[in-house]
Amino acid sequence: MAEVIPGIYQLKLPLPVPHTSLGYVNTYLVRGDDGYLLVDTGWNTGEAFTSLQKQLAEIDVDIKDITQIVVTHIHPDHYGLSGRLKQMSRAKLLLHRLDKNLIKSRYVNMDKLLRQTNQWLQSNGVPPDELSELRTASVGMAKYVATESPDITLSGGETITTGVFSFQVLWTPGHSPGHICLYEPDRKILISGDHVLTTITPNVGLHPQSSENPLGDYVNSLNKISQLDVDLILPGHETPFTGLQARIEQTLQHHELRNKEILATLAAGPKTAYQIVKDMSWQSDTGNAGWQNLPPVHKRLAILEILSHLKAMIIDGRVDKSFRDGVIFYRQT
Ligand SMILES: [Zn+2]
Ligand SMILES: [Zn+2]
Repeated sequence: MAEVIPGIYQLKLPLPVPHTSLGYVNTYLVRGDDGYLLVDTGWNTGEAFTSLQKQLAEIDVDIKDITQIVVTHIHPDHYGLSGRLKQMSRAKLLLHRLDKNLIKSRYVNMDKLLRQTNQWLQSNGVPPDELSELRTASVGMAKYVATESPDITLSGGETITTGVFSFQVLWTPGHSPGHICLYEPDRKILISGDHVLTTITPNVGLHPQSSENPLGDYVNSLNKISQLDVDLILPGHETPFTGLQARIEQTLQHHELRNKEILATLAAGPKTAYQIVKDMSWQSDTGNAGWQNLPPVHKRLAILEILSHLKAMIIDGRVDKSFRDGVIFYRQT
């Protein structure tokens, strides 16, 4: 464990074996006057829990000393353990309103979401023999999430004060509808969740629970934080880094390159989103995997990611869509 700046510790929690592509999730422990604030929590696994306890013990902190838990977004690697920690510590849990609204449909009763996802994938050209595998790809994740409702529902614009730190809550939708970052203007620190990462780019997908134009939201959210005076970024994965503007610029360029790659696959004529993803390049843990070698959960993320690009390009006029037998086809305008 590292004290990244005086009063803020970076803890690394392991991710479950089937989901190792990111290695670990960072949680940040902030020292207050009367207890600690924890930002993000890791998956609800025995391994992550033991690892958290062990790292806290290194600085003589107990789970019961945590008085506030801020979750940057609803994904299992950030929200998963929060329910269990809250029950043990009686800490107050803080989460954005839009992600709070997804707790039940994602992790408690998934039937409606599964039906919607099935329809979504089918209308985007996923063939029947792959449909069931892709539809249920993330069902297993629910067991790694101890759900608990937030005590304080955030909207963005709040200030969370603890010890010498005063964090501004910045609503940064895109990767998740209710994603937030925490900005400490005096110390010039940004706790960025999955919004900006050191070398990788977060998945931004269009799906039944996303906003109308998540990639557009994501780009706006990047622009929103690009003018902040920041010396150090504390991301949800990988390592803390400097140079926020440059990293945002690279991330924006990456998305524009993906747009161009999608347009290139449409040069030969209209395609479904499923046909487009098969023509694209895909990276996985083992390098350039190619579509067929991606695990089902990544295949689904890939389709949703392409859809978010297509939606953004419909809005800016580069692409349009038409229906044929209930299936959506995209083409260059
Ligand atoms: Zn995430
Ligand atoms: Zn994450």
